[in-house]
Amino acid sequence: MADETTETPKPRRTFDSAYGFSFAIAVGLALFIAGLVVTLTVGEGTSTGLIFGVPLIFAGLVIPLFMMRGLFKTSEIKEPCPSCGETIKTSDATLQLRCPSCHKVINVREEKLFLAEQ
Ligand SMILES: [Zn+2]
Repeated sequence: MADETTETPKPRRTFDSAYGFSFAIAVGLALFIAGLVVTLTVGEGTSTGLIFGVPLIFAGLVIPLFMMRGLFKTSEIKEPCPSCGETIKTSDATLQLRCPSCHKVINVREEKLFLAEQ
């Protein structure tokens, strides 16, 4: 019974990531299309259009990558081992690890370390 309550608060992070992901794609696409339009219309194929259009296309490709890099960056956890107290550094992408000091199996859940039952 007690274990059920600890499992529920999960969807917040995944929702933010999904939202940010589509936002990054939308921004990139908008810049890319704007760049194409500028390149093809302004100056009618002369270098004037390229000078303004190419940086926009470039920004449309690079900006989403930067935005997504921030999204996928996992937060670092620095917590004492629940068994021996040795400070363990890991990321919240880790689900399970072994303490380098006491070699006990530790579960990582919501940025906290829990001793695995064996
Ligand atoms: Zn330990």
